[in-house]
Amino acid sequence: MPRQLLGAGPLALAHAVAFTGASAAAQGLGGAESRSTDGTDGIVIDAVLCMALPLMLAAGLFFLLRVVVRGAAFAATTRHWRQSQPSNHSVEVSSLDKRLHRVAIVLTSVEHALRLEEDSELREMLDQSTLSEQRARDEVDKARAGKVSLPVAAAQVHAAEESMGVTEERARELFGDNAFLDEGARVGCFFCARPLANASYRRQVPLKRGSDITPVVACPPCAELAAAGQPSPILVRMEMGERMLHWSELERYDPYHRRHEPYPGVRTVPAWDLASQLSLSELAARAAGGQGELAADEGCPVLDLDSPAQGTSVLSLEPSREQG
Ligand SMILES: [Zn+2]
Repeated sequence: MPRQLLGAGPLALAHAVAFTGASAAAQGLGGAESRSTDGTDGIVIDAVLCMALPLMLAAGLFFLLRVVVRGAAFAATTRHWRQSQPSNHSVEVSSLDKRLHRVAIVLTSVEHALRLEEDSELREMLDQSTLSEQRARDEVDKARAGKVSLPVAAAQVHAAEESMGVTEERARELFGDNAFLDEGARVGCFFCARPLANASYRRQVPLKRGSDITPVVACPPCAELAAAGQPSPILVRMEMGERMLHWSELERYDPYHRRHEPYPGVRTVPAWDLASQLSLSELAARAAGGQGELAADEGCPVLDLDSPAQGTSVLSLEPSREQG
């Protein structure tokens, strides 16, 4: 019987070994008479044992190896799946981004509404909503970086939504649904790029560089700061880390939209550090919506861009003309 099992698998061999061992024991119990007289059985048992043990060891190792390899493959698959799934945190930040995007769309449409009439109450509400929107954007950016908790950022986004709702309602009361059409002159403050939809909200600031005086259009807050010799910083973008572009040079820059969703990569520089390759008069025309050179208003304080150290000095247009 053991001979017949020599060609079988390790399991059959193990059974054979157990069975043969039991038979041998039984034979031992039965006395010496029952042992094979020619010793053939003993040789067969030894041969089977010699063959079976290494095979059993090999089978055990093979089984162990399969378990290890399968375990490693399972772990790798699980890791890959986890990495490919967006975490709860990034999903929730992304949902806050979407809510802020909706706020920006509504506030942009209110900017357009002001083309119909410069209503001081609506302007104030829009400014408050814009401030709340900027705070919310800052908080969401902090939440993205793990610097504040998601509920803190979500609370700020909620505040921005509430403020936006009140402002939108006021615009609708004043002008009706047509107020929100994508209309209005593409004019922005030379300094901060705030949209100046209504002509009555535009101010003028004469900038002096060399012997030239160039009037630029500005929003009332920037005009007041310039008149006090403390000009607002100017919104620019650095290209390739070297070339400075004034906001009006940026491709498809829409002052209405970018007031609420900043153009990527923009920053501000002190007014006297403006170093565009275009002349001041070219930039002034672009900021004014390509309406050509502005006519200088007499009596406006001139801001001297060549004298940053004397930035607080305010020149009047008349003496400059006399010098020219
Ligand atoms: Zn401004």
